[in-house]
Amino acid sequence: MNFMSDYRAYCKRIFGCRVQKISVTTGGTCPNRDGTKGTGGCIFCNNQSFTPPYCLDKHSVSSQIEAGLRFFAHKPDYQKFIAYFQAYSNTYGDTDRLISLYEEALSFDQIAGLAIGTRPDCMADDLLDYLSEKARDTYILVEYGVESTLDSTLDRINRCHHFNDSVEAILKTHEAGIQTAAHLILGLPGETRDDILGHADRISALPLDLVKLHQLQIIKGTRLADEYAKNPQCVRLYSADEYIDLAIDFIERLRPDITVERLVSQSPETWRIAPDWQLKNYEFTDKFRRRMRERGTCQGRCYTPAIGK
Ligand code: SF4
Repeated sequence: MNFMSDYRAYCKRIFGCRVQKISVTTGGTCPNRDGTKGTGGCIFCNNQSFTPPYCLDKHSVSSQIEAGLRFFAHKPDYQKFIAYFQAYSNTYGDTDRLISLYEEALSFDQIAGLAIGTRPDCMADDLLDYLSEKARDTYILVEYGVESTLDSTLDRINRCHHFNDSVEAILKTHEAGIQTAAHLILGLPGETRDDILGHADRISALPLDLVKLHQLQIIKGTRLADEYAKNPQCVRLYSADEYIDLAIDFIERLRPDITVERLVSQSPETWRIAPDWQLKNYEFTDKFRRRMRERGTCQGRCYTPAIGK
């Protein structure tokens, strides 16, 4: 039984095989750090906490991809790779420079496409035109950090954009023929269960191909870590079992054709202050699937098209 539209099936449909992402950093920044939109960044953000060891921004795109290909060489299951521009905002800055970085990644025979993480207020029209043209014969995914659909939360986490920026960017990107994803964090400060489930309704009304979800983590070196040190009650941290039920409630309300690329993220212990679930990602996934079976549920069971529009 298919409980959920999952990423493995999505890759099989698009590429005919399993696909591995190779992260690439470009030494970029984001408008929420350089003063263009804000300073200090989003309160939860520390890009170092999810950057793999082979990925160093002082190295060229080519040398990071070569290192990534070596890193995954022992995994014969993966026949194709996607260059994943993950850290910071990878559509921010000079368009010609960005295009040359993408083209450098695509020059590798093993690289079957690009996944580009960015903010929704950072997509210039000329860059979107380039990506749209490229998407005619190459896999291109733009992954927008939506994080929350509530402006009050976006203000609280110093995001320096609002939900209407996400709506506009997702609509434009989808219309340009580009695969489009949204990234959301479940459990941001101040959000109730109903607030979180409301995100599922609102993003289901958008033309998204994928969503990535994860629990809120308190990461060292962030403003949230400082707040948490002063007042641990400033956030509601979920246990693994509580989060699994919350994520299942969310997925029940999610449009059934949206692929759920990810449900959880665990930064290395050296960076993570809380929560500490003592679970490997595959153990989390097993628990999650077991719980879905126990609940006899599936993605979209409570999806109502009219809600969220
Ligand atoms: S989450 Fe993205 S937008 Fe926010 S500070 Fe980090 S890199 Fe910038």
